[in-house]
Amino acid sequence: MVSISVEDNNSKPGHYCGLAGIYAESPLNIPQNLFYSLFSLQHRGQESAGVSYRKNGNIVTYRDLGMVPAVLSRYLHMERLSNIGIGHVRYSTKGGNRIENVQPLHAVCNKGQIAIAHNGTISNASALKKALFNKGAIIQSTSDTELILHMLSMNDETDFKKALFSTLRLLEGAFSLLIIRDESLIAARDPNGFRPLYMGKKDGMTIFASETCALDILQANDVREVEPGEIIIIDKNGMRSERFAEPVRISQCVFELIYFARPDSSIFGKSVHLMRKKMGAALAVNEKIKGDIVMAVPDSGNSAALGYAEESGLPLEYGLSRNHYAGRSFIMPTKEQRELMVRMKLNPVKEVVKDKKIILVDDSLVRGTTSRLIVKMLREAGAKEIHLRLSSPEIKCPCYFGIDIPTREELISNRMTPEEIADHIGADSVFFLPVESLMGCLGNPDDFCYACFTGIYPIEVDETGEI
Ligand code: SF4
Repeated sequence: MVSISVEDNNSKPGHYCGLAGIYAESPLNIPQNLFYSLFSLQHRGQESAGVSYRKNGNIVTYRDLGMVPAVLSRYLHMERLSNIGIGHVRYSTKGGNRIENVQPLHAVCNKGQIAIAHNGTISNASALKKALFNKGAIIQSTSDTELILHMLSMNDETDFKKALFSTLRLLEGAFSLLIIRDESLIAARDPNGFRPLYMGKKDGMTIFASETCALDILQANDVREVEPGEIIIIDKNGMRSERFAEPVRISQCVFELIYFARPDSSIFGKSVHLMRKKMGAALAVNEKIKGDIVMAVPDSGNSAALGYAEESGLPLEYGLSRNHYAGRSFIMPTKEQRELMVRMKLNPVKEVVKDKKIILVDDSLVRGTTSRLIVKMLREAGAKEIHLRLSSPEIKCPCYFGIDIPTREELISNRMTPEEIADHIGADSVFFLPVESLMGCLGNPDDFCYACFTGIYPIEVDETGEI
């Protein structure tokens, strides 16, 4: 049985990993600093956590199933002076929630001591794995990240940098990578730029992280994005930036801005919170219903609801309270247990919702299971009308670039029109932000991927999804 949160319980696409890495000019407690950054990235993966760092000429790795405090707290009181470290939080889907898939992965091979942390999905993993098997590789995990280690080790180039460049050029799909190789720290981002990766500086430290919130916690400055197709190598000779691939069409994941990233982060050069407000305002511009109040489904709908309220002039109300201590739970076998899980997490403020025509704002709809329960709770609390507004378009297609979206058959927007969905979940109406309106919010719409809405994938994908 897989452990997931209430929020993940079929209601949202799954996150898929967060990265942090540090190169320090003078030795310091690397695992402790990585702990703070990884804690800030906990929303990107709650099933496992780990760090690798250099100590006495070797790479030491601590990793386990569980959230960051549970896995890493026990090491914090120890003195861990080091110059280089990387860390990872993971949400497992492909490959499952097994200890051998927990990152960083760490190996000793003919190219040196290597630890690797990966955010994304290698979309040609199936073909790469077959080729490695044919060459005699013994693969231990079911994660696509392990393939990168084998490809490095089995690469004919004896020079590590040449082997790394040629390996990266064989990968397709989404990969933001942090690698320790002997005394160097390496960061790389795929040429399409699917997943974010940032770099900042603080007191002789160069810090990398999936989102800027994980740099803020270490008070980093001079923050910049690792560019798509860029590789940054830091060692005792300093920092070098190079390109390992020719520029291709940039395809940053628009869902990072809609839902995955933390609202206080900046990614792809944009404030996540302000982008979500714009999406909410765009919903209001498209609105045909005059509500009494605007409410968010917390926390995923907070910023968009604020944008909707500002644009529409309607009052933003606190009509659903979220219990932040509900924490993680298990998939429940019965309908009643699943309903209780949602009630544990969310509770209507009856005095706010009673007799009101509610504009209820959330970010996305996957299966509709949780929305149905929320609508039911609001009806029980006396709401007069409930109009569900989603700040993303209809999700109709799976993602092959690092996000866990259910199969086409499971996605409610593949089976029903918005009117049928409204009927199914008991709402008075349901409206999704059109793709064109979403693009209009972005400023540089050609630099984003929309494949889970449109089915138009920016690169060729293996739809079997096998690894
Ligand atoms: S398919 Fe959707 S979730 Fe996947 S990268 Fe593209 S926009 Fe993001």
